[in-house]
Amino acid sequence: MKAEAKKIWMDGKIIDFKDATIHVLTHSLHYGNAVFEGTRAYKTDKGLAIYRLQDHTKRLLESAKITLIDCPYSQSELEQAQIELIKANEFSTNVYLRPIIFLGDGTMGVSHKNAPVRTAIAAWEVGAYLGEEGLKKGIKVKISSFARNSVKSSMGKAKASANYLNSQLAKYEALEAGYEEALMLDEEGFVAEGTGECFFIVKNGVLITPPNDFSLKSITQDSVIKIAEGLNLEVKRQRISRDEVYTADEAFFTGTAAEVTPINNIDARIIGRGQRGELTKLIQDAYFDVVYGRNEKFSSFLTYIH
Ligand code: PMP
Repeated sequence: MKAEAKKIWMDGKIIDFKDATIHVLTHSLHYGNAVFEGTRAYKTDKGLAIYRLQDHTKRLLESAKITLIDCPYSQSELEQAQIELIKANEFSTNVYLRPIIFLGDGTMGVSHKNAPVRTAIAAWEVGAYLGEEGLKKGIKVKISSFARNSVKSSMGKAKASANYLNSQLAKYEALEAGYEEALMLDEEGFVAEGTGECFFIVKNGVLITPPNDFSLKSITQDSVIKIAEGLNLEVKRQRISRDEVYTADEAFFTGTAAEVTPINNIDARIIGRGQRGELTKLIQDAYFDVVYGRNEKFSSFLTYIH
């Protein structure tokens, strides 16, 4: 689906989509310092509901703090803006929300101290990020030739635009090689994350996902861990080596966009039976129950748009 809608929220106002433009000397365009979020709103039986709005907005402001951008809007103002934007757009299906805090035009040079801070929120209707087919059958993944950004030189807890150059090149390489997504290892050769997802394997009935040492603190990964624990499944946070990836019984990606996407093949090794694994399906179904408001226990994760 095209990233298009009726309205955009920009610097405190809801404006027409076509008017949400910026200057070519926008500081962030040149030097890469901007922070953003990716949040979904699901069409539940009680109307659209934003999933984990508070957590995403908190991470947005924390990302800004990490990269030294002073956002003029508070957590509650940004939450309200996202709600208002969804209302203004009169969407009829699931939505992806993209708030971004960036540095506008007016000063040039590496220093961003005097660059104006701008805030925008876009929203548009979306389907499955890695395809409907991918959600059912699983996708083919390549371990990237790119290591994930080093914690010595980048800050992966910030959802910062600059961190996505590494993701983007890894994704390009994977697609060119005929795969659907890349899995990046850390500097020591253990699994870090996908280009926009966290990673899980299932081994002997236990779910294993790496600690967030080399990855974003994923909200979907956190949801999946809580859901799995609610299903009395054992979850371990531990490093995963490349050979452990290849010999997993099941594997899947988690992310706001990717939701719970099964992996059926990694670097020509068939994972499990080469289809969506049993526990993966259990988790995936439970995840969709949560985001669509069908599980009361997790109702606090949803902000309904009235
Ligand atoms: N890692 C990266 C690099 C990402 O871009 C994302 C997507 N935001 C994730 C992990 C998953 O994070 P979340 O579940 O919070 O969307």
